Amino acid sequence: MSRAKAPRHRVPAVEKVLQALGGLSLPRPVALAVIRRELAELRAAGSAPDIEAVVGDVRRKLERLGRLRLQPVLNGTGVMLHTNLGRAPLGPAAIEALGAIGRGYCNLEFELDRGERGGRATYLEQSLALLCGAPAATVVNNCAAALVLILRHFTAGDRREVVISRGELIQIGGGFRIPEILESSGAQLREVGTTNKTALADYARALGRGTALILKVHRSNFFMGGFVESPSTEELSGLARRRRVPLVEDLGSGAVVATEAYGVEEHEPTPAEVLGRGVDLVCCSGDKLLGGPQAGLIAGGARWVGALKRDPFYRALRCDKLILVALETVVDAYLGGREAREVPVLGLLRVAPEQLRARGKRILEGLAGLPLEARLGSGKAHVGGGTLPRAVLTSVTVEVRPVGLALGELAARLRRGTPPVIGYVSGGWLKLDLRTIFPEQDTALGGALRAAAAPA
Ligand SMILES: *Cc1c(COP(=O)(O)O)cnc(C)c1O
Repeated sequence: MSRAKAPRHRVPAVEKVLQALGGLSLPRPVALAVIRRELAELRAAGSAPDIEAVVGDVRRKLERLGRLRLQPVLNGTGVMLHTNLGRAPLGPAAIEALGAIGRGYCNLEFELDRGERGGRATYLEQSLALLCGAPAATVVNNCAAALVLILRHFTAGDRREVVISRGELIQIGGGFRIPEILESSGAQLREVGTTNKTALADYARALGRGTALILKVHRSNFFMGGFVESPSTEELSGLARRRRVPLVEDLGSGAVVATEAYGVEEHEPTPAEVLGRGVDLVCCSGDKLLGGPQAGLIAGGARWVGALKRDPFYRALRCDKLILVALETVVDAYLGGREAREVPVLGLLRVAPEQLRARGKRILEGLAGLPLEARLGSGKAHVGGGTLPRAVLTSVTVEVRPVGLALGELAARLRRGTPPVIGYVSGGWLKLDLRTIFPEQDTALGGALRAAAAPA
């Protein structure tokens, strides 16, 4: 590459670069914008490399840009609900429903029996309420939105204080901090107790004329042990009822079946359980342990849910038809007892390590002859997504170590491959956890490994 200083007119013309690129995988205006930016930088730097060098740079930038488009990846991280990798995969029934509804028109807000405008998500709300053992339920875009809606609604009047234990002022994932969500909703934070101990009396003392609600936040992504204490939900709901203050619980995970039945030792509370303990409103995510699309579920008393739906802010948070139909399919699967088959996340929890080992052996066989050391290892898969922090699932990893290539370079090639494969590096090996890779992806995984390890 010659990048000698040269007069301005030596920078190649946009059209020339475009022609030299040949076929484009991105829309022409996107490519043009990249080329213009590249040429402007060259002009500003006063350099005029030859056209091949410019075309090479532009091509790499276009490829990198193309990889920013949403695309399927193989998740070899062993984290089942990986927030960066789209959390819960959807099952075939949900995918089919997405296609059928997305393709054409649907009765989103049209009542077929009466032939006129109807409610939105009426069926889903009823079935979701059944699933949550609640009188009523509704859905918004995610659990954060559900919480903001609840907080804004209940703190809109003179009562602005939200009473919460200091042990529950937590951060969930990137940028979701309970105190900040509270403040951005216009609520006033009224902290009670200490990080490790909060007594019922602490709550009782904090309740007053200004109290809008008591908020309980499930410590979904970490575990606190040792010298800890907090009142039971029953005690807290008793207090809330006596003082006529609503009690809201942010449950996060959205498990609606007993996680123990899926081989997880830790129990995740379900909406039905906490509502049964006297909580007035519960919210959780649709794309964590429920295994559906991104959504925020709200369940509880009909009066509260109805009021939330009438809040003008609700309109800004309501879900699209695609989300609604995917969620409707998932909720129906649970109510029909088909969840073990139709909710992929639950399936991943159940896979036996022997099955993973058998798959791993076949994958290793396909790697023979590559400049690569390969072996099977035992992994520890996690549920992730801020749920069940203590649950570890014994897993099997395909572990590779390239010969004549840096480990980081192999990992980068795999990420840039087709399909992209995401693993993790540990102890000098690149590891791919098979629990989060579906069996039907094994062939693609083998192909990606062969392509990445092949000498350049
Ligand atoms: C994950 C989580 C949230 C945020 O849920 P989103 O659906 O990602 O908005 C809120 N609260 C708790 C307790 C969570 O675990």
